[in-house]
Amino acid sequence: MIKAVRGTRDLLPPETALWNSAEATVRDVFRAYNFHEIRTPIFESTELFSRSVGEETDIVAKEMYTWEDRGRAQSEKGQSLTLRPENTAGVVRAYIEHKLWEWGLNKLYYIGPQFRRERPQKGRYRQFFQIGAEIIGPASAGSESPARDAEILELLATLLDRLGIKGWSLQLNSVGCAKDRAAYNEALRKALEPVVPRMCVDCQRRAVTNPLRVFDCKVPEDQPIIETLPRISQFLDEPCREHFQAVQEILKSVGVDFQLDDRLVRGLDYYTRTAFEFTHGALGAQNAILGGGRYDGLSESLGGPQAPGIGFAIGEDRLILALQESAETVQPKPDVFIAPLGAGMDREAARLARELRAQNIVAELGDETFRLKKSFEAASRLKARHVLIVGENEVKAGAFALKNQETGEQISVPRANLAERIRGKQ
Ligand code: AMP
Repeated sequence: MIKAVRGTRDLLPPETALWNSAEATVRDVFRAYNFHEIRTPIFESTELFSRSVGEETDIVAKEMYTWEDRGRAQSEKGQSLTLRPENTAGVVRAYIEHKLWEWGLNKLYYIGPQFRRERPQKGRYRQFFQIGAEIIGPASAGSESPARDAEILELLATLLDRLGIKGWSLQLNSVGCAKDRAAYNEALRKALEPVVPRMCVDCQRRAVTNPLRVFDCKVPEDQPIIETLPRISQFLDEPCREHFQAVQEILKSVGVDFQLDDRLVRGLDYYTRTAFEFTHGALGAQNAILGGGRYDGLSESLGGPQAPGIGFAIGEDRLILALQESAETVQPKPDVFIAPLGAGMDREAARLARELRAQNIVAELGDETFRLKKSFEAASRLKARHVLIVGENEVKAGAFALKNQETGEQISVPRANLAERIRGKQ
């Protein structure tokens, strides 16, 4: 038997109804904040991710699905392509490619699958979905302002509340600008020197190539050592400190609670200044429901103009898991099961179904070869609210037998009144 590949899964009804309703709420909230949707390709050139997410990150170093495309001619070497492990890089690539700075401040959102070769477990998959948003534009359009950071964070608080997610918490940090990071990396390197031989092999490598990434380490034995390392908060320059302070002040003024966490450095290299994560208690080990931050130098590092930006990505799979903790999902039921009765009645039933569906009635169609008993059984299995019988006599009379499955009442209804009757109005 061929099964879904490890780390991928089928989303089945009724769960898909929950995904759809969550996405509808998300789209409404984005609309209120004037965000517009962007859809970028699912695969991009590998270089896009190595230059943005960073060579030394877990994602690029070991989790990407990468392959070499065929060249145009047989002798030609193909391009290295990668299934996107995240969507910010694609959005910034599109920003540069389409000169979106000509629009001023861009507020873009996306919903779609991402791919990482991680060890699968509950809440962690190899194909997973993210709902994300970015605010990006020239500094002259206000993209650098702490007001944007606060707007994004307040949007997220509103979004989680509107979705009915209870008990989330926001962890906030500033990872400073490139200059702060250089000084911090130096200090980290020094602090790591005497202790790194006792750490895991990954940390030993990170200590040399990109010491900040030591904070991504999950090895329990390394944690007490990591606790003693200097923190980025001690290395912020005055503009970064002021920027971070301003973000916090707006959040307090709008009533969004947060906790400061100066260990939070996020697993991607492009972050600058504000970095954040929202966690949710009910999710267990994989408790990060979303993460994000500012990425002021990203556009330039991809060959674009200066374009400060800030964004986030919600793990949609985890969002749905959190929703399932609080709500039971029920499969929506059809309003009516149309039961053609006898030869030639499929045609009539199809016409009726078309008329009713055009009036927003959810209709399921039977088959003229079914005996009436079988039609009723099929209707019950689907939990249809009504059964509509379409036989030769009914068609001739222009009135149809409609049985209400909940009350058991059966009446004859003229064709013109069917939709209203089924909807429950007289
Ligand atoms: P990141 O792009 O790593 O900042 O992740 C943002 C959010 O995406 C995380 O907080 C998770 O909720 C979600 N996420 C990341 N990786 C996975 C995965 N492998 N499976 C499910 N969700 C994920």
